Parts: sequence; structure tokens; C-alpha cells
Amino acid sequence: MNELNAYLSDNQDQFVDELCELVRLPSISTQANPGVQACADALVETMRRGGLEPRLLPTPGQPVVFGQRMVDPRLPTVLIYGHYDVQPVDPVEDWVTPPFEPVIRDGRLYGRGSSDNKGQHLAQLLAIRALLKLDGELPTNVKVILEGEEENGSPHLAWFVEHNRELLACNVAYTSDGPVHESGRATLVLGVRGMLGVELRARGANRDVHSGNRGGVVPYPAWDLVHLLASMRRPDGRVAIDGFYDSVRPPTIAEREAISRLPLDLPAHLRQYEFDRLPPPDDWGYYDRLMLQPTLNITGLNGGYAGHGIKTIIPHQAVAKLDMRLVPNQTPDEIFDCLERHVRRYAPGVELIRLGDMRPSRTAIDNPYTQTVITALREATGEEPYVVPSLGGSLPDYVFTEILGVPSLLVPYANPDQNNHAPNENFELARFIGGIRTCATVLRRLGTGTA
Ligand SMILES: [Zn+2]
Repeated sequence: MNELNAYLSDNQDQFVDELCELVRLPSISTQANPGVQACADALVETMRRGGLEPRLLPTPGQPVVFGQRMVDPRLPTVLIYGHYDVQPVDPVEDWVTPPFEPVIRDGRLYGRGSSDNKGQHLAQLLAIRALLKLDGELPTNVKVILEGEEENGSPHLAWFVEHNRELLACNVAYTSDGPVHESGRATLVLGVRGMLGVELRARGANRDVHSGNRGGVVPYPAWDLVHLLASMRRPDGRVAIDGFYDSVRPPTIAEREAISRLPLDLPAHLRQYEFDRLPPPDDWGYYDRLMLQPTLNITGLNGGYAGHGIKTIIPHQAVAKLDMRLVPNQTPDEIFDCLERHVRRYAPGVELIRLGDMRPSRTAIDNPYTQTVITALREATGEEPYVVPSLGGSLPDYVFTEILGVPSLLVPYANPDQNNHAPNENFELARFIGGIRTCATVLRRLGTGTA
């Protein structure tokens, strides 16, 4: 560990320079941006410099940067995942410094992609480089995939994994994305919620009409939509769509225990967002809501005129967008079917459009790698890590747990205030270097298999 720490401090400036080079490439995947390909090409070089055999693998969308180093078939094979695309930068006027001109202020590197996810997967690549330099060879077989469409919902990752099963064969998947626990302490995450997005569109007359001259004699799509939405949720906060909760799997004893160890400052949460109490259901705990229960949320409502003053019209249509966060063993297909039956029953004239989805994923806490990774985290950070059964958010983690059928462990490196997806995204440099130390330690521990 001393040797590793010395190597990290000797080379810190070089590592930060390499991160700055990546952040300068505007790899926004939702916009046709040449920075995406440029970033993929740059990562091929970074992998080559770091002792991996790299290649660009095509998908129907952006290419996957793949690199591997197979040391010994008797050693475990670790598949590392990351993404080189970044979020758009709007509102650009809220950035203190331009998003693609990385700058260090107060020990943080500011720039789009600094922590989501360039700094985090570069930490993995630099850990591999460090181990080769210090130990002469890697302690495990390593495969790395860096995709270029995560911020666009990973539309081709499942396709890619299905078409490259043999190439990606491994014992365990390892990802670093998102922030550590709110408290700042090292965190091991074992799952994510899934997602289903839909649109509801209610139609009335063929155009907006005068609400007096035609009031009472043309349909009211806004009312149709509001009634439909109201039928989907009970007053106690539970979702009223038949079958919605049927596949929700209760937590295991180990998951319950892990959740009970997570600290919670509810007053601080209420203060932060300036409201008085959590929404119903009142009998669900804070972490149960975030990790164990699905949600049904109205992300947007649109219809008629809601601007300044009054405009006396009957709008000709009303639109709602919903997103649902799903938990094991719900699937987007099953939940969409429930929703479709509900809409047909309560408002058959309302159109239901499926927008996008991602399956939930959960790795059992008692998988063969949890204790080894916890020991490595303790060693690398000097902290007792929190074990988080699931993120509230969604990542394409199911491609590892369900398509490849391996445990998937997520160890985020970023600071809780990383501002990912927002202006002034940043990465604390100490956490960037700490990420390199953590990944190197995790690989060493996985190689010896000692917890
Ligand atoms: Zn992101």
C-alpha cells in the first residue's frame, strides 16, 4: 500500500492532465457531436498505454471501447464498465467556467464529464497501469467496456452484451459511477431500480375553441386526463393500477440489515428541499421508498393555457408524461401491460405511448465477492464502507446480472456534490486519486480472493 501511495502521489499531476484531456472532448451522445468518436479514439490510446489490448467494437449506435488483459485462466476475470459519453451542458450560462475547459478550483476539477463518468473510469484504467508498473502483472484477468450512449439510456448495450457474450465472459462486474453515500463515506452498491417512461395523450376537438361559445358542446381532454391520472393513485399514496405491486420481491434479511445501518438525517433532507414531511404512504421508511418500492411519478403535464392572465379556451389536447421506477422482480413489459389494461378500462380514448425503459437489477449481498470488496474498500479508504442494496436511480446493470448472469458490484468514487448532469460538474481530486487506489486494491484482493 505504501508503494502504491508513493506511486500515486508521484504521478498525480500526470493523471490529472490525462483526465483534463478527456474532459476537453465534448462527447455529448444525445447530440450528433464529433467529440463522441474523438473520445472513443482517445480511450483506445489510454488503454494501450495502460497495458490493455484495446479495440473499438461497433454497435448500431456509438462504438464500445473494449480492452482486455488475460493473465491466467485460473484467476478470476473482472469486467469493468464505464461510459465515455456525457450529458448536455445547458443551461451553459450557469457554469462558472466553460464546461469543456477543465479547471481546478479548491481541489476539484470542474468540467462536464469530470466525474460522470470520465474521471471514474479513467481511475480504473490508471489502477490497471499502476498494478502493471508496481507488480509486473495484474492480479486478475481484466476486461473493460466503455460505452458511448449511457446518457442516452444505453439503447444498444443489451444488444452489444448479447452479441459478445463469449468476449465478455467473466466472474464479476465492477462499475464506478455516481456519488458515494451522502455522508461522504465509501460505498458499495448492489443494485439499481429500473425505469419505464410513458406518455398519455387525451384528445378533444380538432382545435382549441372558445370556452363560452362552445362550452358544454365539445369534449374536455384536460378533464379526461386528470380523471385518468387520479384513478392511478390511491389517497394513501399507493399505486392503484391492478397488478402493479404483484412482482415486488420483499427484501432479504441481509438487505434489511444493510439498510438499517445506513445513517439518516431526515430533518436535514426536509430542510434541504424546504418541505415539512415525506409524501404518503406514511408507513414506508425513507430507504424503503428509495430502494425497495417502485414509484409512479408524473414528470410533466401539459394542456391549454397556463401563462400570464386568463385565456378562455377549451384546449384540444392534454398530455402527461409519467416515469415509473421499478424494483426486482418487476419488468418494464409486465408493468406496461398493467398500465395498458388500466388505461383501456378507465379512459379508452386516451392514447398510451411507450417511451423507454430499463430493467431493475439486484445482486445478492451474500455473493462470493462482497466481503472481499468491503475489505479492499476498508484498506484503500480507511473507512468502514456502507453497503447499499440499491440505488434509487437506474443504470443498465441488468446486462451483467441477467444477460451475463454474474454478480455486479458498484463502487462509486465521486463526491456527493459532484453536480452530475448539472452545471459545474466536478470531481474532488483526492477522490479521483482515491479511486485509483481503490480499484487497484479491489483487483489485488479479488486476485488473492481474501476478505
Ligand atoms: Zn450520468
